[in-house]
Amino acid sequence: MEAAVTNTTPAFNATNANALGQCQLCRSMRQTAHVKFARNIGMLVLRQTRRLEANLCKTCASKEFWNFQGMNLLLGPWGVISLIITPIYLVTNTVNYVAAQRELKGAVE
Ligand SMILES: [Zn+2]
Repeated sequence: MEAAVTNTTPAFNATNANALGQCQLCRSMRQTAHVKFARNIGMLVLRQTRRLEANLCKTCASKEFWNFQGMNLLLGPWGVISLIITPIYLVTNTVNYVAAQRELKGAVE
């Protein structure tokens, strides 16, 4: 059995996507998209989940995406439940990232 530790980064304000808003990571006024990433860290008998849900600019969204995916691939699948959960996170992160990229296609950085 694995025990789950969940840390969620709260979204401070739910600003409208597509509108010019403040990126919740770099604090600059840019076109933002709502992204939701999750990563799992498997520690054989313990696992830790970290979630990020925020309105991010294009730069921060891709930075965080690769950050989360790297952690998932490197530290993710070390456990019985982790082995099942990590691929799910990898897929949902990719889906969310592609959707955000599409939304921010014409965004000026
Ligand atoms: Zn940003």
